Amino acid sequence: MEQVEVAPPQTMEVRIKIKHTSLCHTDLYFWEAKGQAPLFPRIFGHEAAGIVESVGEGVSDLQTGDHVLPVFTGECKECAHCKSEDSNMCDLLRINTDRGVMLTDGKSRFSIDGKRINHFLGTSTFSEYTVVHSGCLAKINPLAPLDKVCILSCGISTGLGATLNVAKPKKGSSVAIFGLGAVGLAAAEGARIAGASRIIGIDLNPNRFEEAKKFGVTEFINPKDHDRPVQQVIADMTDGGVDRSVECTGHTEAMVSAFECVHDGWGVAVLVGVPNKDAAFMTKPINLLNERTIKGTFFGNYKPRTDLPSVVEMYMNKKLELEKFITHRVSFSDINRAFELMLRGEGLRCIINMGE
Ligand code: NAD
Ligand code: ZN
Repeated sequence: MEQVEVAPPQTMEVRIKIKHTSLCHTDLYFWEAKGQAPLFPRIFGHEAAGIVESVGEGVSDLQTGDHVLPVFTGECKECAHCKSEDSNMCDLLRINTDRGVMLTDGKSRFSIDGKRINHFLGTSTFSEYTVVHSGCLAKINPLAPLDKVCILSCGISTGLGATLNVAKPKKGSSVAIFGLGAVGLAAAEGARIAGASRIIGIDLNPNRFEEAKKFGVTEFINPKDHDRPVQQVIADMTDGGVDRSVECTGHTEAMVSAFECVHDGWGVAVLVGVPNKDAAFMTKPINLLNERTIKGTFFGNYKPRTDLPSVVEMYMNKKLELEKFITHRVSFSDINRAFELMLRGEGLRCIINMGE
């Protein structure tokens, strides 16, 4: 724990008081700094909820006291992506894992005795106060409990949107979910909300199955229990394949299985998991010609500012259940426990209370 100085927000920026944050695998990955050039010292954290403390010049749609979810990717509302109904991959504010400074002036707003501390994903929520570009803040219903809806700012919306916005299963259909971590279970929650009648969960770790029952997963497959590809097991169980599948593992063998397990003629597979950057996979073109579709999604295709407020409303209207994702809570001073839990693969989401 260090005392940091947080500079005032500059043009188009907002300073927010973080109320609750949670840990996601991306924080862990960059903290371990195995896969990229490390950028330290750095304040991690990107899944959170907070309250606007002050706004910089040019910010017109947010004011002190507004409740917000900071998001690792933004929405400028002016670029070709933001203007397209189909894309949420804003040119200006798209996720950038290498940048440790603010866009406006290329400087950091965090310092200790004048020494710069880097930002992370433009959010840096493991701090009582942080400065975020206004385009990366979703203004939400002030009645929404921040200690719950904070998990909508990354993983849960990703999985939920992958199903609801991209796979779009019809009522009564079958959906296979590969990987039953928080993202996969959020995808299962999407299938439940869409009225899928069969939700098949696939994971290499059987410990995940018990928890997944709470998410409406009705059948389970561990690929290790079979001596043939899991796509064949699924085809046999479903008279030729599932209607939809959502891959939430980041592993290419699961991506291939997720694609090949959908029914010909109408099946749609959606890839969510982030693979190793050099990963590649193979499938026979005939699998596509037989009218199977493969799609990918980023942040569940949600536009952060336009769409997240309505996801919060889904929770407020009791359509979306968030409580079951929250398996642990710690105070900010115990944040290392949240890291330990994630390293051990225990639980789904640990909420970190930033206190008063
Ligand atoms: P997690 O590690 O908690 O869960 C992944 C699960 O997949 C584990 O239970 C693991 O046992 C299982 N698994 C691994 N290989 C498998 C295989 N071959 N077959 C079946 N199951 C397998 O991870 P998470 O936090 O739920 O995230 C899931 C993925 O989603 C990650 O790759 C993450 O990077 C990605 N993600 C993507 C986006 C996006 O916008 N596309 C956003 C957030 C997270
Ligand atoms: Zn944009």
